[in-house]
Amino acid sequence: CVAASASSSPATTTVAAAQVPGVMKAWAYDAYGDAGVLKLDEAAAVPAVGEGQVLVKVAAAALNPVDAKRRAGKFQATDSPLPTVPGYDVAGVVVKVGGGVKGLKEGDEVYGMISEKPLEGPKQSGSLAEYTAVEEKLLALKPKDLDFAQAASLPLAILTANEGLERAGLAAGKSVLVLGGAGGVGSLAIQLAKQVYSASKVAATASTKKIELLKSLGADVAIDYTKENFDELPDKYDVVFDAVGQGDKAVKVVKEGGSVVVLTGAVTPPGFRFVVTSNGATLEKLNPYLESGKVKPLIDPTGPFPFSQVVEAFSYLETGRATGKVVISPV
Ligand code: NDP
Repeated sequence: CVAASASSSPATTTVAAAQVPGVMKAWAYDAYGDAGVLKLDEAAAVPAVGEGQVLVKVAAAALNPVDAKRRAGKFQATDSPLPTVPGYDVAGVVVKVGGGVKGLKEGDEVYGMISEKPLEGPKQSGSLAEYTAVEEKLLALKPKDLDFAQAASLPLAILTANEGLERAGLAAGKSVLVLGGAGGVGSLAIQLAKQVYSASKVAATASTKKIELLKSLGADVAIDYTKENFDELPDKYDVVFDAVGQGDKAVKVVKEGGSVVVLTGAVTPPGFRFVVTSNGATLEKLNPYLESGKVKPLIDPTGPFPFSQVVEAFSYLETGRATGKVVISPV
């Protein structure tokens, strides 16, 4: 058990590193396509640990729409070469430390988003595997009192929510509308807007069954998009955070001088789109909010899916109806 190596004595360190096998189980695809291209490889190579990297024994992982879009071949021009082991989100235990690693040691429980730029040369060997190699700077210590599944649910989504709200200039006293408030990113955007950015008013959209959830996450106003069109309501916002792909409508409800940040789909001025950057220091900064319970991970109740059911988990994610995050646990 690698977790038993939490002591940093050199003897323990050597034993843990020596226990790392040469091959592992990993989900992989060697051609772009739908979830059916995913195959469980029982003898994939355990990734080499480069300078500045650690090897993480994966305890839990999470899926993101970008995994599905990448698998469909949408980012071929800037993707890593096939075959691909997908997965950006990880939580697990450090079992090996590369040269130049200063902060982390074997036995540390960590979480993070494993590729710095998800679309530009992402790692070929991702988190849907027993081991993944990650730069130390992309990882943070797992928040105390969160389990691995909860921690794995966070990195890409919370970093996106945080970077989007920051880029949009959300600050104390300002109002924000989150489009897609019940999804992986939106559920965290609502909570961060309220708890970290001290927004004066948080509104969010979802379908009827998810309206109570929006309120429980801290939304002051929950708009049921099956009954009302948010762009036909009188309210205007300082910030609109669009996690759905409704940029054309989003720009209609922003106040003069406000910002519209769009994660997907067409961008209409003054809206802008960005792609999240992974950063362990930002996760460390958010850890106190996670440890105090002010910001809570939201795992879709259909899951967590065991490692054997990654194909089913992708099919579910790709319905576009997930509530919070689709998590793979245990790995
Ligand atoms: P999810 O799969 O978690 O989103 C699912 C949620 O979207 C569901 O709860 C659903 O609620 C909600 N939803 C769907 N349609 C609508 C609608 N018309 N109005 C309101 N809510 C709606 O996705 P993520 O949150 O992980 O990602 C959202 C999008 O952002 C994706 O396209 C993703 O690729 C992109 N993204 C981009 C990033 C970037 O860096 N640019 C980073 C992260 C994500 P309901 O069932 O009630 O409809």
